[in-house]
Amino acid sequence: MDAARLLEGRVAVLTGAGVSTESGIPDFRGPSGVWTRFDPDEFRFERLLADPRRFWTMRAKLMAEFGLERARPNAAHFALAAAAASPRLLGVATQNIDGLDRAAGMPEAKLAELHGNAANVRCLDCGFVEAYADVADAAASGAVTCARCAGIVKPDVVLFGEALDAGVLARAEGWARACDAFLAVGSSLSVWPAAGLAVAAAERGAALVIVNESPTELDTRADAIVRKKAGAALPALLAEAGLIA
Ligand code: NAD
Ligand code: ZN
Repeated sequence: MDAARLLEGRVAVLTGAGVSTESGIPDFRGPSGVWTRFDPDEFRFERLLADPRRFWTMRAKLMAEFGLERARPNAAHFALAAAAASPRLLGVATQNIDGLDRAAGMPEAKLAELHGNAANVRCLDCGFVEAYADVADAAASGAVTCARCAGIVKPDVVLFGEALDAGVLARAEGWARACDAFLAVGSSLSVWPAAGLAVAAAERGAALVIVNESPTELDTRADAIVRKKAGAALPALLAEAGLIA
C-alpha cells in the first residue's frame, strides 16, 4: 500500500536530524554528517565530568557547526506543525535539539523533545538554567561555569551516557502505543531508545512508514519507504493522508 493510504488513521511521528538538514544544520550520520569531523566520544557525559574545560571547548566548536541561532524551520517542520491541528496526529517525538519544531508552531502538547534543547545550559549542582547564547563566549575558551553557584554546567540536552527524561519518553511511548501508523522522518533509526518507539509500534501491528533520503536500520520492517528529502515529501504526503487541510 502506498505511504499516504497507510497514514489515514491515528499517526505518531518520530523525527531525526534529517528533518533539519534543509535548514542548514548538519546531521550526525549522513555523508557530510558531524561524525565525519568530530569524535562522538568527546561528548559523553563522563567526559564533561572528567574535564569540563575540554568538553566545553569541543562543544563550542560543535555548536558553531550547528549554527542554531541562524537556522529557520523548513517545509518539513511547517507541514508537521500544520498536521498537529488534526486530532489524528497524536504527537511528534523529535530527536532534534534545535528547537525548530517549536519555532514552526508545533503545540507543546504534541511535541516531545526526547534529547532536550541545545538553546539552554543547566547547572549540574543547583539546576540554574541559562541561555547558551549568554555563555557561548566563555564556552569557547572552556571557562563556562554556573552564574549562580560556579558549578559545572551541561548543555540542556541528553548526552551519550545519560538517560532520557522519563516523563518525556513516556509521552512519546503513549503515542507509539496508541497509533495506527508510525511515521519516522529523517532518522537513521540507529539511536535508542528513540528507534525503539518505531519498533514497539510495528510489533503491535501499526504500519511503519519511513521518509528518509538514505537506508535506515529499520527499512526491513517498513510497510512503505519514501526515499526523498523530508521538505519535499512531507507537505504532499501529509496533505494526501488528510492530516493537513
Ligand atoms: P542521523 O544523523 O543518525 O540520521 C539522519 C538521517 O536523515 C540519515 O539517514 C540521512 O540520510 C537522513 N537525511 C538527511 N537529510 C535528509 C533530508 N533532507 N530528508 C530526508 N532524510 C534526510 O540522525 P538521527 O537519527 O536523528 O540521530 C540521532 C541523533 O542526532 C540524536 O541524538 C540527535 O539529538 C542528534 N542530532 C540532532 C541535530 C538537530 O537537532 N538538528 C543535528 C544532528 C544530530
Ligand atoms: Zn549552579
